[in-house]
Amino acid sequence: MLELRDITKRFGNTEVLRGVSAEIQKGEIFTIIGPSGAGKSTLLRIINFLETPTSGTVIFGGRDITSEGSIAVRRRMGMVFQKSATFNTTVYENVAIGLRFRGIPEAEVREKITEALGIVGLTGFEERKAKTLSGGEMQRVALARVLVTNPDLLLLDEPTANLDPVSVEMIEDLIKKINRDFGITILMSTHDMVQGQRLAHRIGVMMNGVFSQIGTPREIFSAP
Ligand code: ADP
Ligand code: ADP
Repeated sequence: MLELRDITKRFGNTEVLRGVSAEIQKGEIFTIIGPSGAGKSTLLRIINFLETPTSGTVIFGGRDITSEGSIAVRRRMGMVFQKSATFNTTVYENVAIGLRFRGIPEAEVREKITEALGIVGLTGFEERKAKTLSGGEMQRVALARVLVTNPDLLLLDEPTANLDPVSVEMIEDLIKKINRDFGITILMSTHDMVQGQRLAHRIGVMMNGVFSQIGTPREIFSAP
């Protein structure tokens, strides 16, 4: 589904990614585990066209998308950030944003939003001002915002950082459900090794801008 070939990224003289290669399989949850500053966020941003790599290739659905980033390709990916932008409007409008540019009739928009809010457990929150929500609720709104667009690939950049334990568990359950029930492939970064292990079918351990290991949780965490 997604293939990363020897991706590098330099900011000035600093080489943040130093040759990242990996294949993400359709239907899996792949977690990128690594300490702060390892380059996880930069890698996800490159895949989502928010940064361009210095060198290397990104293949998505069999096509080289490294320098292309067509709207059609973008529409097949969704991304949720550590702190996802929340607009000073209702939950309804915050979820609708991903659909507004697609020319979808309002009745259909409303239907999709109702369904997505149900999935993330925010039924009845339509009229709430998004700014009044808790951190965990905001992340669930962010997940609903990408769910309504039916992505093939969901990129999650530290989606539970700064959340309380109850919210963390809720978001983790939701990530598993989105993967299992909707078949959405998930590529997620986390600095929390235990979380990365809990959620992943496969893990990439990122150290200093490269994957030092890629494997199943068992392969990575059991002693040799
Ligand atoms: P992680 O997500 O693993 O914490 P990041 O990808 O955010 O790591 O950052 C990796 C390194 O790249 C850090 O040292 C960070 O300061 C640096 N970095 C990230 N973005 C930029 C930027 N736009 N300009 C300069 N340095 C950056
Ligand atoms: P239209 O007449 O164009 O279908 P509506 O009267 O349904 O529009 O909605 C007007 C605006 O109110 C829409 O642009 C939408 O953003 C917002 N809206 C529609 N339904 C809801 C809802 N259930 N909760 C919050 N806002 C809504």
